[in-house]
Amino acid sequence: MVSIIIPAYNEQENIENTAAVIGGILDKTGESYELLFVDDGSKDATWEKIEALTGKNASVRGLKFSRNFGKEGAIFAGLKNCFGDCAVVIDCDLQHPPELIPQMLELHRQGFEVVEAVKSDRGKEGFVYRFFAKTFYKIMRDSSNVDLDRASDYKLMDRKVINALNELPERITFFRALSSWVGFRAAKIEFEVAPRNAGKSKWSFKKLMIFALNNITSFTNLPMQLVTGMGLLFLIFAVGIGIQSLVRFFSGTAQEGFTTVYMLVLLAGSVIMIGLGIIGYYMSKIYEEIKFRPRYIISIDTKNRKEQDNTNDRKA
Ligand code: UDP
Ligand code: MG
Repeated sequence: MVSIIIPAYNEQENIENTAAVIGGILDKTGESYELLFVDDGSKDATWEKIEALTGKNASVRGLKFSRNFGKEGAIFAGLKNCFGDCAVVIDCDLQHPPELIPQMLELHRQGFEVVEAVKSDRGKEGFVYRFFAKTFYKIMRDSSNVDLDRASDYKLMDRKVINALNELPERITFFRALSSWVGFRAAKIEFEVAPRNAGKSKWSFKKLMIFALNNITSFTNLPMQLVTGMGLLFLIFAVGIGIQSLVRFFSGTAQEGFTTVYMLVLLAGSVIMIGLGIIGYYMSKIYEEIKFRPRYIISIDTKNRKEQDNTNDRKA
């Protein structure tokens, strides 16, 4: 059986259509499947739509979060709760073409444990967005050897990979990178990003910046090394200035040294502050991880509605 994991946040217009489209494609393959919708604390009628579907269609299942935990949480909840021998993670807005699923299943049958769908182009994106995305991926690639430029969350994973991901103890996760970090035999197929089916993108600029920072700090210590580098550079600079002012002092032409003092104070101050900021950022991440809060909290699972009990999810 294959589990299709579909994170959904305020996707009321898309649920029914997405289920129908993906269901139709899978019916043709003859493979047994479950459509696992994870409602990431939507504020619209997304959950009602999912629930209505579960009544009509036995292969649809829904998980409802107690609030919005973010797409990462939704993906990991899906991985933890799915029953398939393999799972496909796909967006609810059909920007990830579901026609590729049979191809992914075929590659899985051939023995590939991860099938990644990579973007052949990055779709329509604004200039600013493209600039930030490029910078982010460049930092990630250069410093952590994870190439993400064209990667997406659209992937098929074998049960072995799902179990490996479920074993990871960390709370601040980056699915796109972790799924290649765990290794296994991987294949790639290309797809073109389709336009969003209905509704609008759930990412704000602020959300994206936090996302990028989080992931850079999860995968690399480069920013911290950067500070050391900057410190060294300014040390050389300071030695130069120091020698210069000493020479001036002994030759009796000192006096105007104030500019130098200002400069040194300002430079040293800024380097120290940047350094503290970066260290503080990593420390806040340590703090986040050490709290061992769950990545998500499930309030309803349509599979076992009666024995609603969250104790198991605490460990999630
Ligand atoms: N999503 C989610 N939680 C969030 C934001 C988004 O589960 O907090 C889901 C959303 O419903 C969609 C997928 O993640 O299925 C991708 O989101 P979106 O289409 O807004 O992102 P984009 O395609 O613009 O990158
Ligand atoms: Mg989208």
